Amino acid sequence: MTEERRDLVVAGSGVAGLSAAVYAARADLDPLVLEGDEPGGQLTLTTDVENYLGFPEGVGGMELVQRGKEQAEQFGAQFQHGSIEAADLDGQPLELSLSTGETLRTRALVVATGASARWVGADGEDELMGYGLSTCATCDGAFHRGDDVLVVGGGDSAMEEALFLAKFADSVTVVHRRDELRASEIMADRAREHDDVEFAWNTELEAIRGSQADGVTGATLVSHPDGYPREKYEAGADVEVEEVDVGGVFYAIGHEPNTDFLRETPVELDDDGYVRTADADTWATTATAADGVFAAGDVMDRDYQQAVTAAGTGSMAALDAEAWLESTVAPSGDSARQLSMEAGD
Ligand code: NAP
Repeated sequence: MTEERRDLVVAGSGVAGLSAAVYAARADLDPLVLEGDEPGGQLTLTTDVENYLGFPEGVGGMELVQRGKEQAEQFGAQFQHGSIEAADLDGQPLELSLSTGETLRTRALVVATGASARWVGADGEDELMGYGLSTCATCDGAFHRGDDVLVVGGGDSAMEEALFLAKFADSVTVVHRRDELRASEIMADRAREHDDVEFAWNTELEAIRGSQADGVTGATLVSHPDGYPREKYEAGADVEVEEVDVGGVFYAIGHEPNTDFLRETPVELDDDGYVRTADADTWATTATAADGVFAAGDVMDRDYQQAVTAAGTGSMAALDAEAWLESTVAPSGDSARQLSMEAGD
């Protein structure tokens, strides 16, 4: 086991972590970026990003994060494989136990660990994930040339996945538990207007059929005219059951924040596991309840979840961490948090 001591560690290498790394490196904090289980974060699973400021023609998600990494490295940020498995954030230095077996000690930490795809809970999903069931159309869509496929969800991700899959699949059916989409109008219109995209309204996925040898071969769908059919069925109502033959199923029902390693720490999490930041009276905007720990991106943002907002909070976390680091060596003897407030004022 090796031990290393740092001023600033950034956990996560999605757009929030990269933005924090650029700002911290430019401030000469020599940040170490732990790339995490999904290096590059969710943008690596996206095709074109059309709403990131400065790219009127759009930019590939993978290209955006690769360029962000180059930018951070150019200013001196270092990158390392691995993620945090456990953390002691009770005092200084903060101590991070990594998946690689190493222990890192650091004065400040930016948590930018993002969120991971949620699963539906349908029968068969554990066996078939990666064998025709996927959470990433960009990664696996090309395997479904000529197939009929299902996309589960009603948000922007589901629309994006459906439109991408329509390039390969014979037909794409969006399975949504209500009769109204959550997606933005522009994305919803594109999906509705596409000849190869259909919608199964008020419908949920109950089970997926297939095997690891043959992949996905079919699915069981349940529907109820008032929506949320699985809930209705559990409450004793009748639902319509339909067996469909499909060659692929894609989940696009949102994400869970990656915060398990924070559960036993002073960092406060909300009921869904998102990091709470910015206590109105006392904390800097990205500060958490643990001294020296800041959070940025989807792990602390359940409302906006945009690449551009993640980059914004990443830069804010680096600036807040920089102010906090400066304040903790100030000679006044005041508490770090009071000083960080003064520095941020
Ligand atoms: P989301 O907006 O939270 O939508 C999740 C969808 O999945 C909702 O329609 C939800 O249904 C459904 N759902 C959730 N749990 C379910 C379950 N257990 N079973 C069945 N359906 C379930 O998530 P998202 O689409 O991943 O988008 C997240 C954020 O990223 C949003 O802010 C979005 O705008 C952004 N985004 C933007 C783009 C883009 O602009 N190109 C692309 C992708 C994502 P209900 O509607 O009934 O709740």
